[in-house]
Amino acid sequence: MRYELVAGLETHIELSTESKIFCGCTTRFAGEPNTHCCPVCTGQPGALPVLNRRVVEYGVMAGLAVNCSINELSFMDRKNYSYPDLPKAYQISQFDIPLCQDGYLELSDGKRIGIERIHIEEDAGKLIHRQEDILIDYNRAGVPLIEIVSHPHLNSTEQVREYVDKLRQLMRFIGISDCRMQEGSMRCDVNISVRPVGETALGTRTEIKNMNSISGIVRAMDYEFERQCRILERGGKILQETLRFDEATGQTTPMRSKEADKDYRFFRDPDLLPVYISKEEIERIRAELPQLPFVRAQRYVREYGLSPEEAAQLTGYRRVSDFFENVSGSVRTPAIAAKFIIGQIFGRFRTEKEKEAFEIKVSEEEFTSLMKLLEEGTINHNLAKITLEKMMDTGASVSQFLDKDALKCISEEELDSMCRRALETNPKAVIDYKKGKEKALMALLGYVMRESNGKAEASHVREKLRVMLSE
Ligand SMILES: [Zn+2]
Repeated sequence: MRYELVAGLETHIELSTESKIFCGCTTRFAGEPNTHCCPVCTGQPGALPVLNRRVVEYGVMAGLAVNCSINELSFMDRKNYSYPDLPKAYQISQFDIPLCQDGYLELSDGKRIGIERIHIEEDAGKLIHRQEDILIDYNRAGVPLIEIVSHPHLNSTEQVREYVDKLRQLMRFIGISDCRMQEGSMRCDVNISVRPVGETALGTRTEIKNMNSISGIVRAMDYEFERQCRILERGGKILQETLRFDEATGQTTPMRSKEADKDYRFFRDPDLLPVYISKEEIERIRAELPQLPFVRAQRYVREYGLSPEEAAQLTGYRRVSDFFENVSGSVRTPAIAAKFIIGQIFGRFRTEKEKEAFEIKVSEEEFTSLMKLLEEGTINHNLAKITLEKMMDTGASVSQFLDKDALKCISEEELDSMCRRALETNPKAVIDYKKGKEKALMALLGYVMRESNGKAEASHVREKLRVMLSE
């Protein structure tokens, strides 16, 4: 029998607010253990939580970005369970009435993955296992989270990969989280079941907890899909349970049998007021959201003639996209500027962090001036490239590298004499070339490019040299 994969994701995202959700402690990552703490986030008796307004605003931003409706009134509830990383023995979350609900995220093939809800809640502390000891660090306790719960609309690991990727890009883009999976600021629980192809009822699902890489998610799902199919093939039954994925063995193992909502004894947190956000405020937040990356990307393709790959690269990170937005408004051919940003500027960054930070010494204005010189034909492509490199190295302005004389393109006569000089001063290369060594031409070309300070167009010089050498 052929089986179909059915998956839904619960994605936890740490919000990048300055302070925690119910106290003034910093949310900064790492730090000496237990130094970002106070009586509230370590659950001391009598300490009272006060909701951080920013968390609600960020939650609304996330909701709007994935087409959710926002509840003007929602509630904070206690989810009761006992674990050493949870000092109060309950987590403050949202249960029956979350901040956002009924949204969707659209994949590139147009398929809409339903978002059931987004709620705000607090993160737990972190357990550190050291030989026989287990240590607890509460720095993370009380860091604000949103949990984005999708419907089980995902039917392949490719769809899951794209869903997670898009969600991450989107949440980074609107500036509510850095979504660093390796640092745990974005983590996924994957609900997975299988059913015979053609069947519409859902099979029994298992949940794989706390996945923090896309490749891990894909491997875990592949393994779990196979495992469930094998059990059904043999006529067995899937147990509803919570699993852990072991990166080393590539297998899932049971953590505990899955608890139902009733096990958590949810009830309203009596220490906190209901969460109210007015229609006006929701509209203000909507108006302040940037145009979303997929919308921008489509526009770049449609209006500027960029390839979809180029558009995706430019909209992958907010700062890069904003830089391009501002430049594209003032140049005639944004497509050329796009190629320079991707090739010359973006090419310098190696890590995700660097790309996200997009720290460069060239201002949008300076970059635009350079692009204009290129458009007017005052400088050629090669010189523009070299100048941009220098500007990025030193932070100096265009005018410092391109004086009036240098701005004039090199004349044909000047170029001819430079080529002749190249032949005169490199007799060995000339002989080698005539013997059939194509590579010898590079030495001659290099000479002319140096002489012209990079102003000559390499392909043009190469042609000229070939003609002279054949005379
Ligand atoms: Zn605190």
